[in-house]
Amino acid sequence: MMTGETSNFDILIVGGGLVGCASAWHLARLGLKVLVAERGHLNAGASGQNAGSLHFQIERRFLEQGEKAAADGARIVTLNRLAIEEWRGIEDMLSRPLDVAMHGGLMVAETEEQMALLAFKVARENELGLSTQVLDRAQLRERAPSLSPHLAGAAWLAEEGHANPRILVDAFAEGAGEQGAQIRTGIALTALSMARDGTYRAVLSGPDGEMRVRTPRVLLASGHWVPRLAGMLGLNVPLYAAPLMMSVTDRTEPVLPYLIQHVGARLSMKQTEDGNLLIGGGWPSRLARRADGTPDLDRPATVEMKNLRANLAVAARVMPGLAQRSLLRTWTGTTCISADQLPIVGEIPAAPGLFVAAGGSLFTLGPVLARLLARTIVEGSPPEELSMFLPRRFAHLDAFAVLP
Ligand SMILES: Cc1cc2nc3c(=O)[nH]c(=O)nc-3n(C[C@H](O)[C@H](O)[C@H](O)COP(=O)(O)OP(=O)(O)OC[C@H]3O[C@@H](n4cnc5c(N)ncnc54)[C@H](O)[C@@H]3O)c2cc1C
Repeated sequence: MMTGETSNFDILIVGGGLVGCASAWHLARLGLKVLVAERGHLNAGASGQNAGSLHFQIERRFLEQGEKAAADGARIVTLNRLAIEEWRGIEDMLSRPLDVAMHGGLMVAETEEQMALLAFKVARENELGLSTQVLDRAQLRERAPSLSPHLAGAAWLAEEGHANPRILVDAFAEGAGEQGAQIRTGIALTALSMARDGTYRAVLSGPDGEMRVRTPRVLLASGHWVPRLAGMLGLNVPLYAAPLMMSVTDRTEPVLPYLIQHVGARLSMKQTEDGNLLIGGGWPSRLARRADGTPDLDRPATVEMKNLRANLAVAARVMPGLAQRSLLRTWTGTTCISADQLPIVGEIPAAPGLFVAAGGSLFTLGPVLARLLARTIVEGSPPEELSMFLPRRFAHLDAFAVLP
């Protein structure tokens, strides 16, 4: 594969996670000559390590920073509504089962203060066209008897659920390959520059040597590595690594058909098709460090025991039966959030032809964002639905970039 020759593609996609492979699927279908370069194996990053929650209610992380942040964060609801439609059709679109279960989701509250926050959230969601409902203690008890009777209530959304993160990326990658995309694993983007004619030159390096690529477009679909790769062009994309952890218990009979979140504590919980309970919710793990103390994004983060105990404690408080289960495994994965918590998706104004897509809950939103991004790339301008997520809101950070 590796020669000194330069290969031409319509687009180079860097990263074989959900965003990269779903974008490749759409772009190949739209007729572009696509190369996906993944430095490890497909699904090696956050896309293969995540909780698989399809959460369309406003997430707690938007609510915990005060009312202004919550009101701003509510803008994500417009995208969440599109994501609901995307997930409803995804198994047909990819012609295979993906363990998509959309039986509903409950964001629970333990106190009256948390119930007030839920009411505020639900009112905002309803204004934006999402049909969330507040359930009181008795209604919650009736809907989810396996949860604690001490819960004060919950917000209910019928469309929420979960899917299997271990199989989705392969489904997109295989489909993209069938439509002509080249998917290469074990090759990393090691150099990227813009030529005087505005096209890009990329060097991809692997154990067999180097591959040189010339292309008018590059999509950085590289998760928390995006800032590092954009840095090869002297550009600044404000995305920050968020190392997290997830746990899984042994199997039990079906007790939890819903996705569970908590408005006042970090928690996500669900039961897989096989009966295991998956527990997460945004509890941090610890990033590896280099000798000089800076974060090492290339090595896995390590489990933070204190946070693991706290995560399991809140889960058992919400579902007391959990205390009888055995913990099988806890693992870490690193995702990224942007400076304003909303995804950053689209073309970088300072570098025409350079696209990014990262930041936030991109398991839930990755498939719909890939569709919107592919339209942006092929049509030459973004659809209205992407307007609030475009990188141009951070254009000031590239005011001093030097490109040909
Ligand atoms: C523990 C955890 C739980 C989560 N839970 C949820 C959830 O329940 N719901 C939800 O919506 N979201 C969740 N997320 C977030 C979600 O997983 C991510 O937003 C999403 O997977 C991002 O996909 P991606 O394709 O952008 O990035 P990734 O899956 O990280 O893929 C990026 C890829 O780029 C590759 N790469 C990096 N550098 C290079 C290079 N130089 N050359 C070539 N390839 C390169 C990497 O190897 C990697 O495979 C969670 C994340 C974590 C970590």
